[in-house]
Amino acid sequence: MLVAEKLLLQVLIVLTPGFLMSLFYNGKRMSNSSTWFLAILHSTVALICMSVSYFEFQVPWDFRYIPLILSFLYGGARVGWVVTAVLVGFNFFYAFDLATILTSIVIAVVSHIMSMKYQFSRSRITKIAILLALAFFSLFLKFLSIADELFISLESTAMILLMNHMVFYFIAFILTTLFSMLLYELINEKNRILGEIIQKERQNTVAELAASIAHEVRNPLTVVKGFLQLMREDSKRENEVEYYNLALSELERAEYIVTDYLDFAKPKLNKIEVVSVTKCIQEVVSLLTPLALKENVELLAIYTENIDIKTDRYQFKQVLINFIKNSIEAINGEGKINIKVHQSKGLAYIKISDNGKGMSQEQLKQVGTVYYTTKKEGTGLGTMVSFQLIKQMGGKVTFYSREGVGTDVQISLPLYMNGRTVGAWRVTP
Ligand code: ADP
Ligand code: MG
Repeated sequence: MLVAEKLLLQVLIVLTPGFLMSLFYNGKRMSNSSTWFLAILHSTVALICMSVSYFEFQVPWDFRYIPLILSFLYGGARVGWVVTAVLVGFNFFYAFDLATILTSIVIAVVSHIMSMKYQFSRSRITKIAILLALAFFSLFLKFLSIADELFISLESTAMILLMNHMVFYFIAFILTTLFSMLLYELINEKNRILGEIIQKERQNTVAELAASIAHEVRNPLTVVKGFLQLMREDSKRENEVEYYNLALSELERAEYIVTDYLDFAKPKLNKIEVVSVTKCIQEVVSLLTPLALKENVELLAIYTENIDIKTDRYQFKQVLINFIKNSIEAINGEGKINIKVHQSKGLAYIKISDNGKGMSQEQLKQVGTVYYTTKKEGTGLGTMVSFQLIKQMGGKVTFYSREGVGTDVQISLPLYMNGRTVGAWRVTP
């Protein structure tokens, strides 16, 4: 076989997982089983790469490190380390290749560190830069590991051939890495769009359900309420009046829940006015302090200046309540919630940080989707509605979270006016 053919074989082997994933993972979220699938796929590919590596200039050439890097970047730390373990294990027990063992571990450690930045990065350029950096780094390590064997026995004519080969190998390596990335990015993009469609579909169902509940249940409720009121007026006996009152108050509660649910399902901004962010936060903090006290949570709001935005005051407060309540609920035992407000470059930033139980990467991806809840009595509507409202207000919500450490929710909204410095307030249990 020609060298070009052997290289092409490597290219095809390395690209296989990307193609397979695009076949099997249509619109599905990465679950536990798909993580394993990815781990097995990449380990197999790395092993196949090694087994069909070809000898030129007395050293083996192949792409074994590409699946390793990709497994970290697209599968996360767990998948990455499984693939590393397979590579190391194979080379330890079977191939006795110390250079590969060391190189794999070094690449794994660097990829692990880079993968955190990679997975959170939204910019394509950053991603490509990280990927290229890792690819070049692994190429560098590879050459380092074979350099002495390569150059000892070479004459000058062979040197030119070697250089030629290296250039080809180099280009093929980089292009294959980039093409694999493209495949994975396309899969992610497709899944994201499909997920959004499903999400929209569900939201519509919720909205329709709520609307029909409002019509079908609210009207009879009103009729029943009316008659009960009439009957109460006609009633002569003392304890009968009491029963009517009880029935009426329960009816009111039912009405309230129905209305509330309608509000939830169809979030929209009604009265737009200039709203002081800091004042709203103060009011919400006062409102939630009893709840926080009960849960042994310290609520602390910090700001240095008054910040105004233009929006629906009621809905803005509702968003704050939703997020702060989630924070309170995330704290088990004693805890602390900081609400920081500041402005920068025409945006008002509100950051709600808690030291609660936090979320895993998997959870973080799902937060804000309809009905997603991990609570026994949760509805999974709060964050979804808040996301939608903030979007309508022209703002953005970003979640930062680490399991066991806590969660930061950052809301950014367009500023309305520059305010004055007002101070800080503190509410503690
Ligand atoms: P609910 O509160 O009814 O469960 P939400 O939409 O408000 O619904 O929240 C969805 C899920 O997101 C919660 O069940 C929880 O698992 C997670 N979550 C939201 N905020 C936080 C937070 N601050 N800390 C930890 N988990 C959170
Ligand atoms: Mg909630």
